[in-house]
Amino acid sequence: MTRISGITPSGHAQLGNYLGAIRRWAADGADGDLYFVSDLHAMTTAYHPQRLRSLARETLAILVAAGIPQDRVFVQSDLIREIGALTWVLECTCTYGEASRMTQFKEKSRSKGVQGVRVGLFTYPVLMAADILLQGATEVPVGADQAQHVELARALARRFNTTYGDVFAVPEAVTPPAAARVRDLAKPTRKMSKSTRDSAGVVALLDDPDVVRRKIRRAVTDEDGVANLLEILAACTGKSTDELASAYAGNEALKEAVTEAVVEQLRPMREGALALLADPASLDQVQAAGADMARRRGEHRLAAALRMAGAS
Ligand code: ATP
Ligand code: MG
Repeated sequence: MTRISGITPSGHAQLGNYLGAIRRWAADGADGDLYFVSDLHAMTTAYHPQRLRSLARETLAILVAAGIPQDRVFVQSDLIREIGALTWVLECTCTYGEASRMTQFKEKSRSKGVQGVRVGLFTYPVLMAADILLQGATEVPVGADQAQHVELARALARRFNTTYGDVFAVPEAVTPPAAARVRDLAKPTRKMSKSTRDSAGVVALLDDPDVVRRKIRRAVTDEDGVANLLEILAACTGKSTDELASAYAGNEALKEAVTEAVVEQLRPMREGALALLADPASLDQVQAAGADMARRRGEHRLAAALRMAGAS
């Protein structure tokens, strides 16, 4: 069994990414599981090349510093030749009708209108299928918003296998175990998200402890806001929100406790990531080793797929 999970460097990784995903990836990754920084996916909407490159490096440093074994992490663009080639083969396996049914594209293109939307955003689920199928992943832990994309990857794997020859494992979407859902500190009606423009309510994983303190001190304390603070504290301490709700005299005390817990929770990861980022040669090495590993794992599958599809 191989599971694959990705994180898109669409912004600075934030507290919700850590408590909801990265921390767990580091804790219960099994042998063979793979994690990757999906920087090619960040190109589907407007972006700055320099910023993307530095966010991809930062995200890689965070994953490794969080404790995900170095030999299970890679950066997607290091495999752009392999993934790009497979994406083309899969685009020629996918029908327009099938791709057009993806509800996430419909939602994302609604606001911009199809005129302003990149073809890459339309074909993004096929790129995702290439990520999954290249590595022979059998399970893909995803939220409900990505389940349809994994279904597409399944359909494409099956179709390729029956049309050209048996190459791909047919992946399955699996529901990740329940984890904390962290909401924006300034706007607790929406989830905390790394691509949110206004960072006032978003704790970035590499934020200075003083910045973390300030953001938490300014957190909204309406009903949703307090519930969110309790949820964060519960995720950091392992205690229940009910137990914590009665433990603090007022919002000030609660915020102090949350600050303390968050800073402590993030400290080892943050220090490790900053050390890696300050030593680019080491980070290069980690990145190159990850790329090597992922390429080696996928190359026979890619070669077979190209051969069978008549593309080599
Ligand atoms: P974007 O704004 O680009 O969608 P994001 O912060 O929502 O960024 P994702 O890349 O969509 O992050 O998700 C990466 C992982 O982090 C997923 O497993 C997702 O469930 C988890 N995650 C993201 N935001 C939160 C949050 N606020 N609370 C808990 N988990 C989260
Ligand atoms: Mg998201």
